[in-house]
Amino acid sequence: MRWYPRDYESYEPPVSCGEVKVWEKNAVFGTIRQKPSVRRFGNNSITMARLSDPTGELQLNWFHMPYLRNTLPVGRGCVFRGMVIEKNGRRILQHPQVYEPQAYDKLTHRLLPVYPLTEGLSGNTVRRILQQILEECPSIPEILPRQIRDKEELPDIQQALQSIHFPQDRRELERAKKRLVFEEFLLFQLGVAGLRLRLHQELNTCPMPKTERTESIAKRLPFHLTDSQQQVLQEIGEDLGGPYSMRRLIQGDVGSGKTILAFLSMLRAFENGYQSALMAPTDVLATQHYGTLCRFLKEYDLLETVRPVLRKGSLTQKEKREIDRQIASGEARMILGTHALIQEDLSYPELGLVITDEQHRFGVRQRKQLSEKGTAPHVLVMSATPIPRTLAMILYGDLDLSVLRDMPAHRLPVKNCVVNEQYREAAWRFMEKETALGHQVYVVCPMIDPDEELPCENVLDYGARLQERFRGRISVGILHGKMKPEEKQQIMQDFAKGKLRILVSTTVIEVGIDVPNATVMMIENAERFGLAQLHQLRGRVGRGTAQSYCIFVQGNDRPETRDRLEILNHSNDGFYIAEQDLKLRGPGDLFGIRQSGLALFSLGDIYRDADVLERADACAKEIIKEDPELENEEHLLLKQAVTALFYSQNDSISPDSGEVI
Ligand code: ADP
Ligand code: MG
Repeated sequence: MRWYPRDYESYEPPVSCGEVKVWEKNAVFGTIRQKPSVRRFGNNSITMARLSDPTGELQLNWFHMPYLRNTLPVGRGCVFRGMVIEKNGRRILQHPQVYEPQAYDKLTHRLLPVYPLTEGLSGNTVRRILQQILEECPSIPEILPRQIRDKEELPDIQQALQSIHFPQDRRELERAKKRLVFEEFLLFQLGVAGLRLRLHQELNTCPMPKTERTESIAKRLPFHLTDSQQQVLQEIGEDLGGPYSMRRLIQGDVGSGKTILAFLSMLRAFENGYQSALMAPTDVLATQHYGTLCRFLKEYDLLETVRPVLRKGSLTQKEKREIDRQIASGEARMILGTHALIQEDLSYPELGLVITDEQHRFGVRQRKQLSEKGTAPHVLVMSATPIPRTLAMILYGDLDLSVLRDMPAHRLPVKNCVVNEQYREAAWRFMEKETALGHQVYVVCPMIDPDEELPCENVLDYGARLQERFRGRISVGILHGKMKPEEKQQIMQDFAKGKLRILVSTTVIEVGIDVPNATVMMIENAERFGLAQLHQLRGRVGRGTAQSYCIFVQGNDRPETRDRLEILNHSNDGFYIAEQDLKLRGPGDLFGIRQSGLALFSLGDIYRDADVLERADACAKEIIKEDPELENEEHLLLKQAVTALFYSQNDSISPDSGEVI
């Protein structure tokens, strides 16, 4: 029941062939006059028909359904509903559903849930299953006390779940959603308050006073630390050497230079006789950090003594055992890896500092689990998500906040442009020019494989196309989340070393990747990504001293898309972008692409639902004030739910999630 829809579709009254809107779902009333034809190629086939009425004509395409040739209605009017695309000036209704006019009439104006799916599962199946569950399942316990529901005007859980899946109308949907989002935020806030009570005043059992060497290395870096970096380093230092254990969040826009702060902190832990661990949300990023750390240590002749290890997912059992031995024996002083580091039963005898990079990609349980390794290690989390301070204080109430305000000097701001697909040729020529200057290029596509129903670019076809075009001149690599970890690492390494000049990738490169020689980021079907995500992707360029460029390719010409992309076009400031986006969409935007990029909530969005978040926060504070341990009868179910959320073992985050849409 908690498998929430990601969107809703409504059945609009049908239009005629001449009235369709391109790049949108349309219901069209018309007649197929001639028997459909089937074209086969290999194992595939397309069934094609022509729909016509006095206002115009549309081509209808169905994939892999040759039998339709004999079952489609010919010679009588029906409603055909599907996405209309435009190819070479021709309008095509892709893979439409077919309805008898009376049947369609009954559906008009209803809201139909659209679910997130995985391979082999269809929308209709999920809808059917949910309908059945809602009908047959006995009542669900209500965790929100009556008083709160009355005060906040929230429907009960039974009603809310029924209406989130099958709303009668938009108003009902809005009410249901508000209730579920409120609940989600409330549980979170109660959990955070619990963490705050338990952890915040924990005594510093891993004291790490200043050391000579760390100080002197900080002064001998190949660049000058920015004022912000120095300030934050100071704050970290006071925590590490202070009376209480560190719980700190570093917020800094992409490219503000967080990694070096992590390294310097780890060095200080090392100097004081402690192990430290750095976790990243993807294998690709963990591997990159490992490489950077090794180079950093080597520079100061520390590689041999520190013996950093990378505990990545793709290791063989034997390699894993060896690394675990080094960790357990204390030989390995710095440990890098993905979130698997905290899930497995590793022992870290002398762990004194734990750092997570790109914290917004981790769920809340990891935050908790993390601090349970070792005795009471210091915890530092880093995030590039631009959350306004007030919101950050709510969401990360269990942490102290440091902000990196300025960017390293000598950086040129990225030059942006928003274009349509006609510009692609010119963009490719531009890429060629940039590579000739010795630079490198990313191209991001929203999908891995071709999908006939969704007209957007995919990595495999696009990569092949560029490989063909640049054959023998420019090396083009392909990267996506379905590749084996070793393959991914190899490709990333080749790109980092400059062996590959162009990388066609999904959003696996979204977080953290640092190849300063890359100067062009081209994002296909930019309309398919959230603004926060686009901003992160753009952050992959503009990291070196050369001028960088970001090309947003808009796969449709809707004005709303254009307006949204214009925000990015005119600003490189993450905070500003988040704010503008919020204004543009307004509170009426119930669902749609999630913008914040936070993995903490399944339904709530901290920007879109900022008002609900504030109310839930206030409510949580009231509850805690009155009943800090949630022991009152009326809070017992709430307590169970918070515990399940924060303390259950079973974790479902997948680090590369979000790349397949
Ligand atoms: P992010 O904050 O996005 O994680 P990184 O830590 O990856 O950013 O830093 C981005 C790039 O900037 C890296 O190549 C890093 O070496 C470089 N860098 C970091 N700090 C400075 C600085 N003070 N001056 C110049 N370059 C810096
Ligand atoms: Mg980073």
